[in-house]
Amino acid sequence: TIRTRFAPSPTGFIHLGNIRSALYPWAFARSQKGDFILRIEDTDLERSSQAAVDVILEGMAWLGLDHDEGPFYQMQRMDRYKQVLAEMQAQGLVYPCYMSVEELDALRERQMAAKEKPRYDGTWRPEPGKILPPVPEGGKPVLRFKNPQGGVVAWDDKVKGRIEIRNDELDDLVIARPDGTPTYNFCVVVDDIDMRITHVIRGDDHVNNTPRQINIFRALGKEPPVYAHLPTVLNEQGEKMSKRNGAKPVTQYRDEGYLPDAMVNYLARLGWSHGDDEIFSREQFLEWFDLDHLGRSAAQFDEAKLRWVNAQHLKAMADEALAPLVAEQLSKRGITADDRLPRICALFQDRCDTTVALANWAAAFYTDVNPSAEERAQHITEAVKPALAALASALAELASWDKAAISTALKAVLAAHGLKMPQLAMPVRVLVMGTAQTPSLDAVLELQSRELVIARLQKA
Ligand code: GLU
Repeated sequence: TIRTRFAPSPTGFIHLGNIRSALYPWAFARSQKGDFILRIEDTDLERSSQAAVDVILEGMAWLGLDHDEGPFYQMQRMDRYKQVLAEMQAQGLVYPCYMSVEELDALRERQMAAKEKPRYDGTWRPEPGKILPPVPEGGKPVLRFKNPQGGVVAWDDKVKGRIEIRNDELDDLVIARPDGTPTYNFCVVVDDIDMRITHVIRGDDHVNNTPRQINIFRALGKEPPVYAHLPTVLNEQGEKMSKRNGAKPVTQYRDEGYLPDAMVNYLARLGWSHGDDEIFSREQFLEWFDLDHLGRSAAQFDEAKLRWVNAQHLKAMADEALAPLVAEQLSKRGITADDRLPRICALFQDRCDTTVALANWAAAFYTDVNPSAEERAQHITEAVKPALAALASALAELASWDKAAISTALKAVLAAHGLKMPQLAMPVRVLVMGTAQTPSLDAVLELQSRELVIARLQKA
């Protein structure tokens, strides 16, 4: 079976560029009936934080990117890495290197001066007949991997096509520090082997690690997985999206009222395409997703586009599905909604692009409204006040509270006061909803509580 993984480092809050690297391996696993594994690469103790792990877990749960195994934490797998290190040592696949930081710096400078690419020169690499330097007293060695010499490492990248690197360009990678802790590239390979990963789909900032990782795979007697290196996601300024230049944590989009399915739709299109299809459901995406249509060039994030995609999904959503999401937004404002909410959603969802915008409308049904001074001045004129008072009484006397009855009362007041519909409807909207821009008035009033409507009209 297909097995993919998302392997984020919790060194900051994951943003949309990062989560796209979760979406594709998740979608590939789901569409192939495979497994999706979550692995937290938390070995950078100084920069990793629990808060960042929480954003990863919450963000993925919110977007519905469910995993079949994990989360695994690399810090909890140290013993396993050390065990593999010991095996490699026993097999002569690694060797201790005592070169000091000063010596390495000096080597680098000589190479730079000679216009050579800085690389470890193999001083401590054991070879038949070679005499190694004397071990410095009290020296603590790093362990280096015996990279193959000569030949090439090659792979057919699902995004970038065939990539070939000459082994002579790769030096012997440090795979354990002087204190015995394993290094990044080595842990990734052990994990990808143990977790039986078949497809590594990740950002192309890792493409330089891949030939090194492939060599370690082969040294351990394993065939490397299929690789797909995704192009960068750029922010709106055209820079690589990053937490350093203001990319929002993915969970912030939840708080701003975006829908999980719309996010999945938008992110899916940020580096993958299915013809000209722009708006699609999660199910369609999983049906269509393949590695062959991943884009080769950097994608640029566009928040206005994301909002538009969100609005399309929001309009198409069933009101009963939308209501709980809006209720959640309302509860953050201390408002408890009731069973009118689905109907309120149905009435306003066409004019909203986020659940926050929808909650702004819904709030007018549960809390006081604050029309602006301008709107008051414009619509609530002395001339219309008697009609407003008459409407309040007429509404109080209605035998039933529904659209038809409300509409009859409105018309009766118009006739009695010689007004046209907008002359009365606008001030009523301002008083009852806080703004003159609302859907049809009888439909709005029907959903309001009668007492509240009358109280607000009487305020005029
Ligand atoms: N932990 C790496 C990152 O967050 C990903 C490593 C990988 O996917 O192999 O960039």
